[in-house]
Amino acid sequence: MNTVKVFKNATIINGINSDVVKEGMVVVDNDRITYVGEYNAEYLKLHENEQLEVIDVQHKIIMPGMIDAHVHLTLEGEAQYLEKLIVEDAKFTILKGLKKAEKMLRAGFTTVRCVGEKGQIDVHLRNAINAGIVNGPNILASGKAITTTGGHGDMLPDGIRFDGISTIADGMSNVQLAVREQLKLNVDNIKLMATGGGMSPGDAKISQLTVEEMAIAVKEAEKFDIVTAAHAIGREGINNALQAGVRTIEHGTYIDQDGIHFMKNHDVFLVPTLAAFKTIKYGEAAGVPKHHLEKVQSFERAHIDNLKRALDAGVKVITGTDAGTPFNYHGENAYELEALTNVGMTPMDTIIAATSRAAEALKLEDRGVLKEGYIADLIIVDGNPLHDIMLLQKKVEKVYKNGQEVTFVE
Ligand SMILES: [Zn+2]
Repeated sequence: MNTVKVFKNATIINGINSDVVKEGMVVVDNDRITYVGEYNAEYLKLHENEQLEVIDVQHKIIMPGMIDAHVHLTLEGEAQYLEKLIVEDAKFTILKGLKKAEKMLRAGFTTVRCVGEKGQIDVHLRNAINAGIVNGPNILASGKAITTTGGHGDMLPDGIRFDGISTIADGMSNVQLAVREQLKLNVDNIKLMATGGGMSPGDAKISQLTVEEMAIAVKEAEKFDIVTAAHAIGREGINNALQAGVRTIEHGTYIDQDGIHFMKNHDVFLVPTLAAFKTIKYGEAAGVPKHHLEKVQSFERAHIDNLKRALDAGVKVITGTDAGTPFNYHGENAYELEALTNVGMTPMDTIIAATSRAAEALKLEDRGVLKEGYIADLIIVDGNPLHDIMLLQKKVEKVYKNGQEVTFVE
């Protein structure tokens, strides 16, 4: 028999607007939210014949589980990742990926979008999690990212191909084939490399997949009603990706006014991945390859300035950490909200970016909001993140996914 959970004495942040309910109550029946609002004795009386489990939240915060729109389960925050990426068998990577997925769930991230994985491990982890075999967040899988010969993700000498986070495709028909190979695995997202990147040698600003190549990828993805993400650092590549019709721009470092206007007018979402700049803090002394460090340093200023311009113009910004990149560890995902407050967003804005707005970007129609009828992905936080956003990194006490409390084995 299913028990209905009643959370009482809750302070509710709903994830979609800045209303805060002080003496709040949330009711969850099976995996769905059936009531959100003020304490409601009448509601309880009406349902008194049902088996109710009453949970006294003691005026802690209840808010939607958070969403990280950009993670890699293959990588693990190491300064030098390349050798391991080549020699490690994907069957081993998947077992390690499981632990990383669990860490993110424990940190209050009930949904994560993987954007390029060795051995398409995200697809298999997602399937195991959805089947209830293992613990983990909702995974939106991309399988492998799609890149060009010599593009971001293809950083090895000529003749060496390996099972990395990307698959290589040049020309429209090859890109179409590569997309279909991911779609065959029932991916939830297609990730496209529109420009070079910080973690590959060479110019990160240079354009890679063309407008036409990305457009055919978007068209294939849209047949299945799934979203698309473009890794895009340089101005031209960002605009190429926008013209091709992608749903989210990842990083967006050198976005110009045209790009900003386009995003604003066409409801394209920006995932600035500020957490990826942790690399600079730890630097070369910690073994970050010089080519990577120099590039990331040169990006940071432009990245912050352009992000502020995009925010001022009203571009929809959502949370994504690029977890797995150097020193950017799984489970520390809520750092992104702190970083977004440092560029001028209010704590409430960052919470909306991590919940309802991220759900909108990823077309998750019934997640990311505490509202009747939505799926009960919610967290309990000890202390008010509206006063101190860092509490989301330290004080997430309980996590409920699909209406069930998640328990963790140490
Ligand atoms: Zn990434």
